Amino acid sequence: MNRPSARIATKPVRVEDALRRAGLKRTPQRLEIYRLLAETGDHPDIETIYRNTRRTMTAISLDTVYRTLDLFRELGLVTTVRPRPDRVRFDANTDPHHHFICEACGSISDFEDRTLDDWPVPEAARALGFVRSARVDILGLCPNCVRAKKTAKKQSMRRD
Ligand SMILES: [Zn+2]
Ligand SMILES: [Zn+2]
Repeated sequence: MNRPSARIATKPVRVEDALRRAGLKRTPQRLEIYRLLAETGDHPDIETIYRNTRRTMTAISLDTVYRTLDLFRELGLVTTVRPRPDRVRFDANTDPHHHFICEACGSISDFEDRTLDDWPVPEAARALGFVRSARVDILGLCPNCVRAKKTAKKQSMRRD
């Protein structure tokens, strides 16, 4: 089920411009990977992006997907989220925004908040190095997981 409120539309994309400016080829693979990423608010991981790309480009390799995402990151076309240290997720929404991360199923939803955008980065953080941007990750349980937990609890109470 889609939750439209959690999806923040990505600005009309200039992937072609970005590639042209960098003097890089606008290969069908690059355009397709970007299109898939820009269309979803799901913050997919590399395996998911690979799987979806293969639906239309059966011959694409995982290595190509890796290198393309790396390139997009260098060009500032995507950002990454790491809900877990071993799991990188990709985000084509490069506008300032924050994340609600479900610790049970790993779903990541975007939200915007002006107060958080204007929040002054603490001196303690500035003292650690040059600050490029700041983002807030809210951790918790998504509505689906809250429901699943309640159901599981009810079932276990019935068993007792
Ligand atoms: Zn969840
Ligand atoms: Zn995001």
